[in-house]
Amino acid sequence: MNSSTRLYNDADPSALSIEAARERIRQRMPLHTRTETLRCAEALGRIVASDIQSPISVPPFRASAMDGYAVRSADCTQTLTIVGQSLAGHPGADTVQVGTCQRITTGARIPDDADAVVQQENAIRQNNTLQITHLPEAGLNVRSPGSDSSQGSMLIEAGSTMGAAQIALLSAHGIDEVLVLTPLVIALFSTGDELQSAGQVLEPGQIYDANRPLLKSLLSSPAICVVDLGICKDTERDVQKMFLAAADADLVVSSGGVSVGDADFVRPVLEKQGQLDIWKIAMKPGRPLTFGFSQELQVFFGLPGNPVSAAITALQLVKPAIGHMLGMPVHQLPPLQLPLEGMLRKNPGRVEYQRAVMSTNDGGVWQVSTTGLQDSHVLSSLHKANCLIELDVDSSGASPGEIVTVIPFSHFSDNVL
Ligand code: AMP
Ligand code: MG
Repeated sequence: MNSSTRLYNDADPSALSIEAARERIRQRMPLHTRTETLRCAEALGRIVASDIQSPISVPPFRASAMDGYAVRSADCTQTLTIVGQSLAGHPGADTVQVGTCQRITTGARIPDDADAVVQQENAIRQNNTLQITHLPEAGLNVRSPGSDSSQGSMLIEAGSTMGAAQIALLSAHGIDEVLVLTPLVIALFSTGDELQSAGQVLEPGQIYDANRPLLKSLLSSPAICVVDLGICKDTERDVQKMFLAAADADLVVSSGGVSVGDADFVRPVLEKQGQLDIWKIAMKPGRPLTFGFSQELQVFFGLPGNPVSAAITALQLVKPAIGHMLGMPVHQLPPLQLPLEGMLRKNPGRVEYQRAVMSTNDGGVWQVSTTGLQDSHVLSSLHKANCLIELDVDSSGASPGEIVTVIPFSHFSDNVL
């Protein structure tokens, strides 16, 4: 049986593997299509909406890669006469005659019949004559036109994130506006009668809402607009009200209330008003979780209530789903393999993510250790972590010194400069 379709009988026969869940989510993601035109400088972090072809060749002319002398390489065994100069932005004569060369600076246009640039350190100048000490081959220090990109070639594919490199690339091609996707609108709410917002006074039995600030911070980016709908009481009516308030969003993310307890109304409302798709995934932390559609084309993620479970399901499932909606190439960076400091326990049956920290030991060797208590309500061990240790479904733990799979937190961010 293929691992992506395997069911985990040892844990929960109805649970999907995380790979199968991700694939199912990918297949169902509607593509975000609304666009707007922005100045490139204002498009940092936005998603390019359509392929961009190169309007010009870059470099647009043969340019020198060095400060030195533009030469005909075949002439270089003789003493050359220096005739004129070509400076960056101030091109000199179009040609160099036989037996002559032209003084040139980096980025300046190379005269048509010169075929190399001799670096100034490789030549001895006396008044207007030049003796070359290291003979150049044709093409030396010549940047050919279009060597970065040729006119009409693909410059940036739709779905690319506008980072510093993309902004620089477009600018280098004279492009100062770009068609990007409008921010994807995510409506966010927490559920739970026990929840109070930070800054308010706690009544008996209440706890502070950690998930809205957590998820807002985790999901926010220039390509995303998170709309905070607040805290939802544990009644069917209040959950319905939240669904209504979220009506204009592309994606709805809630936390809590997705179990099958007396106070869990998210799932029944989703089933009644929309469509429930995935219900259980064989990952820890990460159960219970719901995925489905709250309206046609409106994606719904009901994340678990415990903050660490909400964080890890958001990273592992919601972020890739957002990437698919935005048409981004979702490729995960390869995990690291590091020796474990200490011991890990785990029950087989689910993939498990443990909060951990990568650090060097006294001998300067990289290793990884957990950051303490792994219960899914414990945020302090998330604060101390810089990575997750991934233990596979069948694993029953790991011993000191064993090589374990490590996902740095930086792997969850956009891989752009
Ligand atoms: P639930 O999934 O609603 O049963 O919640 C599971 C656990 O997570 C309970 O202990 C809740 O009090 C807690 N919890 C739910 N939502 C939040 C939240 N927004 N912030 C902090 N803890 C929460
Ligand atoms: Mg609850």
